[in-house]
Amino acid sequence: MPEADGLLTGFFTQHQGPVLPLVTEAARTKKMLLALEQEIDYIRATVTGLGISAEVLPNQIQLTTIAKDTDFKNMMVNLAEHRAALRKIPFKPPMLYFYISSDYGNRKHPKTGRISFHHGVDLAGTWQENVRATAPGTVIYAGTEGSFGKVVRVQHDFGIVTTYAHLARITVRLGDYIGENHVIGKMGNTGKSAGMHLHYEVRVNNKSIDPVKFMTVGRQISVAGELRQSNLVD
Ligand SMILES: [Zn+2]
Repeated sequence: MPEADGLLTGFFTQHQGPVLPLVTEAARTKKMLLALEQEIDYIRATVTGLGISAEVLPNQIQLTTIAKDTDFKNMMVNLAEHRAALRKIPFKPPMLYFYISSDYGNRKHPKTGRISFHHGVDLAGTWQENVRATAPGTVIYAGTEGSFGKVVRVQHDFGIVTTYAHLARITVRLGDYIGENHVIGKMGNTGKSAGMHLHYEVRVNNKSIDPVKFMTVGRQISVAGELRQSNLVD
């Protein structure tokens, strides 16, 4: 026994060897299950925060009070389903190099001077830069549309549609199924456009959402490793 120095308590002196916290196998399993559940919760909260309905997401399985081996497997599968859902959402930017020349929301129209709601963001880049689909989907419009000039619209899962306007050239056709990063056209200046730029919109169930929100979440989850950073360069 060491000499009492006032620091040792009876609790420690009663033990031989190193003192380890008592963690049962069940408690360890439960802890791991909770970590998986937390990631699923995080994904669900992030996605619904962007206006996507929780009902269209994979079902969320509930943890049982007493953790079993099958719970672990089911939770892993459920997490994989949620991660797969993330890869169907347009989190990527539509161009590799750009700056935002006009934000989403109320603004004075650059040509008419009237206050109007801007349902997308304007991204300026280099002339004829490749414009890419920001998630996998089906081309539901490819043609000319009034002030938008040459436009491509892509229908994604979960009621999401992305729009790419003022294109110089369109490189997809109506009905094409395209993967993310597929080049849909070239950035341009067609339609009623003040200078060359891409007008880019994201709509969820026909309601526009600030595309910057999607790109911001996309960057965060790429860093977390949940969304594989795919190569944007050809
Ligand atoms: Zn615009």
